[in-house]
Amino acid sequence: MLVVAATDVGRMRSGNQDAYVVEELRSGEGWALLAVADGMGGHAAGEVASSLAVQILQERVAAAQSAWTGGSDAAVGLREAALAAHAGIVAAQQANPAYAGMGTTLTAAVVAGPEVAIVHTGDSRAYRVRKGGSIEMLTEDHSVVGELVRAGRLTEEQAMHHPQRNLLTSALGAPGPVRIDTRVATWDVGDILILCTDGLANLVTAAELAEAARDPAGLDTLPARLVELANDRGGYDNVTVVATVRER
Ligand code: MN
Repeated sequence: MLVVAATDVGRMRSGNQDAYVVEELRSGEGWALLAVADGMGGHAAGEVASSLAVQILQERVAAAQSAWTGGSDAAVGLREAALAAHAGIVAAQQANPAYAGMGTTLTAAVVAGPEVAIVHTGDSRAYRVRKGGSIEMLTEDHSVVGELVRAGRLTEEQAMHHPQRNLLTSALGAPGPVRIDTRVATWDVGDILILCTDGLANLVTAAELAEAARDPAGLDTLPARLVELANDRGGYDNVTVVATVRER
């Protein structure tokens, strides 16, 4: 099973606060865990939040996954893992004043053969690129700008350049209620699943993402090609891309 990833600090930031997971879960059965997390918080606390989130996610999924029969079980398990990650980040904040205010997005998927279970909070994204080239976003941005796009008051293009595009309405570790979305999508043989942080999504449109995914250069190089594209356009933020394809 081909599961690929690339992450980069970008051209402007001094540290990389993004984290990711790509892990095959059941050898030869077409199961895998993919995740991206985009941390926020001063003095490298964002790095702590995103790495804590993916670490707790991986532990919870590893402990629970053998009991899952398909995407629905995986979605329930992913929600529990995301809640555990939120609790872990809140506990770390309380234990160390330097971690006050840290948080992270989390977009994670368990590929379970023909199904893809997704858990999501924040403004990282999951996309499904069909074999024919069409692309759909499988997540909703939990951001002020994302809400304006859904209300039809901003276009995707306008949102990419909006000065308030970094204002999140939900993140792990944030005070107040955290919105954790789950869904189970299906995908066909040849479809590609892509997860990415906003460092890509703010610089590369969905149409360009679909075009890159269908490039004859292949899936192996897709994350690195997308990171390069974001950096060529300014690389204003950390960039992380993970991807996989349904092979059978
Ligand atoms: Mn970011």
